[in-house]
Amino acid sequence: MSQPAVFLDRDGTINEQMGYINHLSRFRLLPQAIPAIRRLNEAGLQVVVVTNQSGAARGYFPASLVDEIHALLQKILAAGGAHLDGIYACLHGPADGCACRKPQPWLLEQAARDLNLDLSRSYLVGDRYSDIQTAANAGAKGILVLTGYGRGEYEYLRAAQPVQPVHVAVDLLEAVEWILQDLGGNPS
Ligand SMILES: [Mg+2]
Ligand SMILES: [Zn+2]
Repeated sequence: MSQPAVFLDRDGTINEQMGYINHLSRFRLLPQAIPAIRRLNEAGLQVVVVTNQSGAARGYFPASLVDEIHALLQKILAAGGAHLDGIYACLHGPADGCACRKPQPWLLEQAARDLNLDLSRSYLVGDRYSDIQTAANAGAKGILVLTGYGRGEYEYLRAAQPVQPVHVAVDLLEAVEWILQDLGGNPS
């Protein structure tokens, strides 16, 4: 039987929004990221990062850096007793016309195939309205966090958006607490 998952945007949601993360030294986890992901792990939910990383296609850094950053991310999480069940990245640029760049739902759909996930019972937490649109396109529930670009997107872009989040959270930990309540404490 397929399971619900919690998809997480990367930049601005679990690590500080620093423009392009073009060096390992620019990758810094937000303070609540480890406890938030650990809570999801403990609840038995699949946790999957879905991220657009067009910097490689733009020539700003080698594609291998994305893998290095994700290895570092897993290492930092492991030290805090947390882990990700998958990391799915689009490395293309906006002009490449690829199938996987958010807000297209492909990254979530691929994860659902690989991990046997039920997208209709899943969540995507992100700091941009494009993440909320991605969730809608995948048939999942979108939650906006006010970290990263979130506060500005919520204040200045909200009125013009066709799709609104099911919840707005100050940070990832509050988003996770809301998700666990929404699932009624019985996620699987
Ligand atoms: Mg983001
Ligand atoms: Zn792509």
